[in-house]
Amino acid sequence: MRAAIIASKESTGRILRRFKLRAAKRLGQNFLVDYNIVEKIAAAAQLTPQDLVLEVGPGLGSLTQGLAESGAQVLAVELDPKLLPVLQYTLAAYDNVKIIQGDVLELDLNELTEGRPFKLCANLPYYITTPIIFALLQKKLPAERLVLMVQKEVAQRMAAAPGGKTYGALSVACQYYTETELAFTVPPGSFMPAPQVESAVVVCRKRAVPAVKVSDEARFFQVVKAAFATRRKMLGNSLRNLGLSGPACAEILAAAGIDGRRRGETLSLEDFAAIADRFAAYLEQKGSGEQA
Ligand code: SAM
Repeated sequence: MRAAIIASKESTGRILRRFKLRAAKRLGQNFLVDYNIVEKIAAAAQLTPQDLVLEVGPGLGSLTQGLAESGAQVLAVELDPKLLPVLQYTLAAYDNVKIIQGDVLELDLNELTEGRPFKLCANLPYYITTPIIFALLQKKLPAERLVLMVQKEVAQRMAAAPGGKTYGALSVACQYYTETELAFTVPPGSFMPAPQVESAVVVCRKRAVPAVKVSDEARFFQVVKAAFATRRKMLGNSLRNLGLSGPACAEILAAAGIDGRRRGETLSLEDFAAIADRFAAYLEQKGSGEQA
């Protein structure tokens, strides 16, 4: 028989009172209090009993419970040490859950998951959403599917196509490594305390190979960062953030077949790849120096 549901206003209030706790705003603690959303997230993760699922920030265990119900093996990393006794209590019925106390940005996730492929699920702490997403993507972990609850505005940025204001370095990073889809939105009332803004769940399916082929990935992300660092500038100027002279920028853009009057937000992943490859080739031609 299933244990009592954690993701409800009543249970959450009862648990907080029992442990004399308050949600810590500085740690982004907004607890899910709607079990329907928990079930939707678990369904989006397509969990089977054979899966290993890594959860970032289990909090009181609301989402962890839904993940554990699938029979998958759950590893949950929680930063707040005060929540460890709470999680031992709320998830006592599940022997397929292991809680690890630590900072997801500092832990060696490969060691933690013993190199096994895994799925990642999280209602992310809003104060470090973007660094966590970049780290998860760029650490090249064998995470085949990421199901992430983030602010709706961040979700829109992750899934944005070129041409709009929401398209930026986060969109390129997500879409380079994964097929990124905004799955559904979640209203503030589904959390306790309720955040000021709407949230959304994003599903990122890891690509077998990145969306575009580049000769040097680090150069690719350097170009993306430079192009969006001064989004209002034309590429001919913004690429000077790479330490290049005006003529060098013009030469690279011409070789890549990109009009230097365009702005970064209009470039597709293929366009960025073309510029990055020409940039890498230019540097190679000039010798190993970065400045040109
Ligand atoms: N999963 C729970 C839920 O859905 O109700 C809680 C989600 S709450 C938005 C974010 C959780 O992440 C909090 O429990 C917070 O303490 C934890 N957290 C914050 N920063 C973290 C970090 N760097 N590493 C691991 N957990 C973190």
